Amino acid sequence: LTSSSSGPGLHVIHIAAEMAPVAKVGGLGDVLSALSKALQKKGHLVEIVLPKYDCMQYESIQNLRVLDIVVESYFDGQLFKNKIWIGTVEGLPVYFIEPLHPAKFFWRGKTYGEPDDLKRFSYFSRAALELLHQAGKKPDIIHCHDWQTAFVAPLYWDLYAPKGLNSARICFTCHNFEYQGTAPASEIASCGLDIHHLNRPDRMQDHSSPDRINPVKGAIVFSNIVTTVSPTYAQEVRTSQGGQGLQATINAHAQKFVGILNGIDTDYWNPATDGYLRFQYNANDLEGKAENKKALQRHLGLSVSDSRRPLVGCITRLVPQKGVHLIRHAIYRALELGGQFVLLGSSPVPNIRREFEEIAKKFENHEHVRLILKYDEALSHSIYASSDMFIIPSIFEPCGLTQMIAMRYGAIPIARKTGGLNDSVFDVDDDTIPVQLRNGYTFVAPDEQAFNGAFDRAFNHYMNDNESWQELINRVMSIDFSWDTSASQYEELYVQSVSRARAARRAA
Ligand code: ADP
Repeated sequence: LTSSSSGPGLHVIHIAAEMAPVAKVGGLGDVLSALSKALQKKGHLVEIVLPKYDCMQYESIQNLRVLDIVVESYFDGQLFKNKIWIGTVEGLPVYFIEPLHPAKFFWRGKTYGEPDDLKRFSYFSRAALELLHQAGKKPDIIHCHDWQTAFVAPLYWDLYAPKGLNSARICFTCHNFEYQGTAPASEIASCGLDIHHLNRPDRMQDHSSPDRINPVKGAIVFSNIVTTVSPTYAQEVRTSQGGQGLQATINAHAQKFVGILNGIDTDYWNPATDGYLRFQYNANDLEGKAENKKALQRHLGLSVSDSRRPLVGCITRLVPQKGVHLIRHAIYRALELGGQFVLLGSSPVPNIRREFEEIAKKFENHEHVRLILKYDEALSHSIYASSDMFIIPSIFEPCGLTQMIAMRYGAIPIARKTGGLNDSVFDVDDDTIPVQLRNGYTFVAPDEQAFNGAFDRAFNHYMNDNESWQELINRVMSIDFSWDTSASQYEELYVQSVSRARAARRAA
């Protein structure tokens, strides 16, 4: 096993359900690897614990091997053995837990969306702590993410700190408060949590019913540091409109709650080196961008007859949060304004999937519109590189990464002013914002009229002032979206929390 930190850096262990590129569903996966890499670069020892899914991208794991220890962990009144694998992903040491449990928790061909998700991830949270305990790890920070590993916080203080795994402060990051993992209270007993102790309004009890528990609420209450993924979203979730029922809990713990804007992995998302692209390019030489656009148009069977016809891109999970009615509207509006539209999206919501399948069929052979309804990493890179504009009309958006990736690839974002979009997209026509920060088009109301207000202005600009549009592309491609600044903010929170704990220990 990798030894614990002895240098001046901190020993940070992330416990999570996703990590790009091995196991990525959305932004959480991107954040996990990019934040970890940035912290590692700053001299910290960073390790990651993930479930060993059958459906992982195994080719992205170097030197994967099984360790000759077996970790036994408690679940539903019994002890179950777990095989522990270790490998390197993006230069980071990652432990993969393979439960030898008859339910084959991570052998389902998918990451989430199983009826027993609560069991799967509460099992994993406990097994991960068991691994750290049995391996004799002495981390300074255990960082858990979203409801799937929220159980780590109460498990740590109630069960593992008393057992001696007590060197750590717990940091919890909520990447989206819409997903809280609420369940009947009895279900948390499976992983060994004490219902009577935790099913209280000031602990894990959900606001909707005294018989339900809320893992995210538990993590807010039991963590030393609680973060979310942008400053604006951190404000929004403290209100009844944005808090998804957790606003009172968040407000009660406001002194340990902070919003830190995500970055993107600028090595991975780099048009100058991107191996998925036919033509690499950079801000000073945009020839490759135009070539990629032609290649994508040909690949998708779109018209290439007019290179000045703007291509509008959208890459998203098709769920209500993302403003699906505005995405649908944008397809038609782009056509009316003389543009092309490419959507890459997958949907776990049956009626939304059906609706977009119908639209996709309608435009199957259209020369200016294509909908590709699946998850496709390679195609996503080509679309970012080929798009002139990129829409993100979200109803709410904790941070959002696609607007940042789009800008890095020279696509101008058109975004609704909410959450992290409000912290990263600044309107070209907004006189209250310094000119050098203006980088896209924004709108406020979540309706078609407001969307058109931004979209039409972007089209006008593109069509009528090519020179200043090129300057805008240059400006957005030069913005620093790296994790450097944000990772420093996490580092500062970790250091403060660890120092407070050490001071308290000395005083005791
Ligand atoms: P969320 O986490 O809510 O899905 P984010 O904007 O934070 O949204 O992150 C989305 C990430 O997932 C981006 O890296 C984006 O490129 C990627 N993505 C979303 N949908 C697809 C898709 N259908 N195919 C490929 N990549 C996708």
